[in-house]
Amino acid sequence: MSDNKSIPTTRNETHTVQFPTPPFPKQKQPFPGLAGKMIPRPDHGETSYKGSERLAGKKALITGGDSGIGRAVAIAFAREGADVAINYLPEEEEDAKEVIELIRAAGRKAVAIPGDIREESFCQRLVKQAAQELEGLDLLVNNAGRQQYCESIKDLSTEAFDATFKTNVYAMFWITKAALDYLPRGASIINTSSVQAYLPSEILLDYAQTKAAIVAFTKSLAKQLGPEGIRVNAVAPGPYWTVLQCSGGQPQEKIEKFGESAPLGRPGQPAEIAGLYVTLASPESSFTSGQVWCSDGGTGTL
Ligand code: NAD
Ligand code: MG
Repeated sequence: MSDNKSIPTTRNETHTVQFPTPPFPKQKQPFPGLAGKMIPRPDHGETSYKGSERLAGKKALITGGDSGIGRAVAIAFAREGADVAINYLPEEEEDAKEVIELIRAAGRKAVAIPGDIREESFCQRLVKQAAQELEGLDLLVNNAGRQQYCESIKDLSTEAFDATFKTNVYAMFWITKAALDYLPRGASIINTSSVQAYLPSEILLDYAQTKAAIVAFTKSLAKQLGPEGIRVNAVAPGPYWTVLQCSGGQPQEKIEKFGESAPLGRPGQPAEIAGLYVTLASPESSFTSGQVWCSDGGTGTL
């Protein structure tokens, strides 16, 4: 067994050498922030993700597809053969343009639909436009999210609480409801939750509640839509290096050490979670529904 020592340590190289580790520079951006201004820039799989037709011919709508986890999913879905519509806020056009180019470079149709999902009427227009321009809809990724830390419940305003719930919970409800007019048997809905649903931080009181709501929504809807052949799952990321964190998601001193407490000693890069979404989206997972898949660098929480 001592021979094991001579086995190349590719796991260690992959997990601790190739990816950025803390400390990171402090870097505050106003919400919603731009991935393009982060130091270091996150890896969304732009140069690394290789597809193999796992989503050939599928049509996907991804919210928050301009940056972070949503961008990594958009790149992966396109390289797996899907046409992709992304939603984002108008202030994020610069990030979104890069994603649109990457989807087109993969030879797939790309549709950009900016707008604020805190409005029910926009959510309905978003789904309709995506389905019309893509000529159908098979995959829905409810990924957009608002995370603004607040030290005390006494300082958490009704407006902030409401904005977090509108973005993370109501929009998911409105978009999913509208999408059911288009989703066929075999369709897959994937919601982005968080480890915050299970281990809520004291400074993310409102956000953590929304992420727990997403878990319950996912499990309930999976039961409701099972008979229609539509699967509903969630992904629960732990610390991922995205602009959400630098634009009010965490205090700046936590940015410096971001991901340090994960057993792998660093934050994940968005490219490292895209594969979970691809697998949940793909017909390979046709018997998987109502599940929450976690990727948090090794705590074993879920
Ligand atoms: P991100 O900032 O790159 O993506 C979030 C996106 O949400 C933004 O790009 C924006 O387009 C969208 N958004 C926010 N408010 C919106 C609104 N009102 N209307 C339309 N779009 C809006 O950060 P990310 O970390 O990739 O976030 C993606 C998802 O991952 C979020 O749901 C987040 O809660 C979740 N998550 C992230 C982490 C992490 O450590 N980064 C951990 C757990 C869960
Ligand atoms: Mg963004």
